[in-house]
Amino acid sequence: MLGLWLAACASPPPVADLVLRNGRLLTMDDARPVAQALAARGGRIVAVGSNADVAPYVGASTRTIDLRGQLAIPGFIEAHGHFVGLGESRLGLELTGTTSWPQIVQAVAAAVRRAGPGQWITGRGWHQDKWTAVPEPNVEGFPTHASLDAVSPDNPVVLVHASGHGVFVNARALALSGITRATSNPPGGDILKDAGGEPAGFLRENAAQLVKRGAGEPEPSVAAATSRFREVLRLADQEAIAKGITSFQDAGEPFGTIDALRSAVDRGDLRVRLWVMVQGRVAELSDRLERYKAIGYGNNMLTVRAIKVYADGAMGSRGAWLLQSYADKPDSVGLPRPELATLPQVARLAIERGYQLAVHAIGDRANREVLNVYEAAFKAAGRSGAELRWRIEHAQQLSAADIPRFARLGVIASMQPIHATSDGGWVGDRIGPARIEEGAYVWRKLLASGAALAVGTDVPVEDLDPIANYYAAVTRTLTDGRVFTGGQRFSRMEALRAFTLGNAFAALEDSIKGSLTVGKLADVTVLSKDITAVPDDEIRSARVVNTIVGGQIRYEAR
Ligand SMILES: [Zn+2]
Repeated sequence: MLGLWLAACASPPPVADLVLRNGRLLTMDDARPVAQALAARGGRIVAVGSNADVAPYVGASTRTIDLRGQLAIPGFIEAHGHFVGLGESRLGLELTGTTSWPQIVQAVAAAVRRAGPGQWITGRGWHQDKWTAVPEPNVEGFPTHASLDAVSPDNPVVLVHASGHGVFVNARALALSGITRATSNPPGGDILKDAGGEPAGFLRENAAQLVKRGAGEPEPSVAAATSRFREVLRLADQEAIAKGITSFQDAGEPFGTIDALRSAVDRGDLRVRLWVMVQGRVAELSDRLERYKAIGYGNNMLTVRAIKVYADGAMGSRGAWLLQSYADKPDSVGLPRPELATLPQVARLAIERGYQLAVHAIGDRANREVLNVYEAAFKAAGRSGAELRWRIEHAQQLSAADIPRFARLGVIASMQPIHATSDGGWVGDRIGPARIEEGAYVWRKLLASGAALAVGTDVPVEDLDPIANYYAAVTRTLTDGRVFTGGQRFSRMEALRAFTLGNAFAALEDSIKGSLTVGKLADVTVLSKDITAVPDDEIRSARVVNTIVGGQIRYEAR
């Protein structure tokens, strides 16, 4: 490499902290797409090239890793996850793998035996469409709380739906929260009631917020609450690093949590870099956006420069807002979230304060409304979407007319490949085959139209594993082996680019992340198999060998 050679002649190269050699480096840098070795110093990449190119950087203090031909890529970036939710889910009951309601009841019964008197039992990850049988009795396919009351009469129970857009509670939790037959549905939510008019146990969308979690329990001391929160963060950080994630884009935390994350960065508790969308009421945003803005805080460990808003709910709970009614609930088109009404105001604030805007939109109606607001906001401010890089989170169900608008307006579709393969088995019940073909998880149509994409998992809704997510992106294969609209697959290289450089772009961070380029942060993930080349069936058996953040080896497989 001539440039490197000239630089070497001018002065001896600095001694690297870390050198990776003998690898297959897919750099995502068009100037040098494939390389063999890399050197890092002071947290940045200082050389990329052949073993010989990098050799002059090796000194006595350099740690050298022989990759033995393994794949090294720019560190995986998670584009949409819930960091605190991930840690929380690791503290509560993990119900993601459950396949029947009785199995869940059993898990709760076991938790009750371990719990103190009156202590809340929490869990998450259940999904009624994964059950092998419909529970009896049921209301709209959901069980009734009597089954939980039998095993947990005194401990309140709250089990969050896999989509995060609803909860199932028992009688004790209803009583402590003051939810009765007389309680009316809050805006944007509904309390499922049985034939006799009593709350059945499932609280959809905003109705979940009626649950007073922690009610009836003694208030934890500040110290206990703090140490618990630190444990939540530790669990999330540990899981991210072990799964090869070097940057995590958090899809919405309140200001208070951002304070706590900043303290965690100050203490050096985090190893994964965080990029956090902030969530709050308009007045709060207006007051605090200026003060909370942080770009690359703590040596690039924390960035706060995006706002999260919800336009609708999720498809599983029929809370996604559709243009036409649900195939399996013809009297409903789902619901917009009340906060959608304030979106034009939030959009103005975002432009004024230099924040990106990221709006959750699942249904085709919600996506259309958000695109309309974005378009009007760009126009009013005389700004181009391409420069602002606003995002729609999920962009899951799109009308054909709206697909080309993403590229045209410069709006990023922030999608979750793993949702397509875990929902593929039941989403047809909700919207029927024509709408699936038209616009369900259509990342290929969006790419073809020239849109920029980001890819994430929505953890803890799905597992954080980027390899499983990559497999979903390139195969669209369901767990039973069926392929879900296979024409919408990413190619292997398109997907790898999306998981790295695409996600960095979606966070306005492509100048420091997303490719193995001299000058960028030395964030690298090493995998045991080349996921761009092995047969489909082998992708998921690839393991993370090393996770390197800022030139520091944060994870090493044993
Ligand atoms: Zn989410």
